[in-house]
Amino acid sequence: MSGDHARLLVVGSINADLVVRVPRHARPGETVLGGDLVVHPGGKGANQAVAAARLGADVAFAGRVGDDDHGRMLRATLRREGVRTDATRTVPGTSGVALITVDDAGENTITVAPGANGRFGPADVADLAPAIEAAAVVSLQLEIPLDTVWAVIRRCEAVDTRVVLNLSPVVAADVLTSASVVRVCDPLVLNEHEASVTTGAKAGDAGEALKVLRALDPRPRSIVLTLGGGGALVAVGDAEAVHVAAPKVAAVDTTGAGDAFTGALAWRLAAGDDPVAATRYAVRVGAAAVRSAGAQSSYPTADELP
Ligand code: ADP
Repeated sequence: MSGDHARLLVVGSINADLVVRVPRHARPGETVLGGDLVVHPGGKGANQAVAAARLGADVAFAGRVGDDDHGRMLRATLRREGVRTDATRTVPGTSGVALITVDDAGENTITVAPGANGRFGPADVADLAPAIEAAAVVSLQLEIPLDTVWAVIRRCEAVDTRVVLNLSPVVAADVLTSASVVRVCDPLVLNEHEASVTTGAKAGDAGEALKVLRALDPRPRSIVLTLGGGGALVAVGDAEAVHVAAPKVAAVDTTGAGDAFTGALAWRLAAGDDPVAATRYAVRVGAAAVRSAGAQSSYPTADELP
């Protein structure tokens, strides 16, 4: 770390993930007895920041936690991981929580109570202006109010800071284009499910999804489409898309792989890599993140990469 501000600024969500294993999911009105409650730090934004920090990044996280036990745990976790927390504020009320049940077949149900994440408003972005200007890259996702995300991106555009936007949870293409901020994304990062929902392309038809994304008006400066075990496609401007293969690993749990991938990608771009080189690194981080259970708990350090 050096200076007052980090090279990579992640702006977004931070949650406590409350996980219970159940023999099978409860139907409405039904009670099912499960295993012991396990609480993990999570949220797409915090996951990205922790993934980058594990790799040695100079990274700050800007988000909102509540004034409760979860908030204190979440903040302590960021600090322990070496993420700068000066822009992480504690606000009255509860922290964001994800209620997760996982059944014996590995299927999960997730209910998110956004809590403090939902109280991170566009008016809060003014405070971030110096950190945004000083950063090489600002990385975002869509688990905080969209108006806040757009305000951060507009600020980035005004001071020429690179924007990485993970389109997750997914929104329709017209939400992106009507906010027009999509033209600044460099890259827009999305997985095959998100690509299919936002473009209407058939699930699994990455070529068609990419074609639709490149025809958006306005369109992103670059696009990175993640393909699970198939790696990722990188499309910059009008250049032919480049396929980057993922290392072969035994996949145990893909939770948080996309967040690890995006955090790593954003960090390598901030460190000066070109998009293809940054993606070659990010697929290794994504692959490492599926080798063991959990999100942050599965994220690798640089010397653990496949
Ligand atoms: P998400 O986690 O958002 O669903 P993906 O499934 O596309 O996104 O995974 C993101 C990245 O994680 C991939 O680009 C790849 O690098 C890595 N990854 C995911 N699944 C596997 C796998 N089975 N084997 C190797 N790498 C994987």
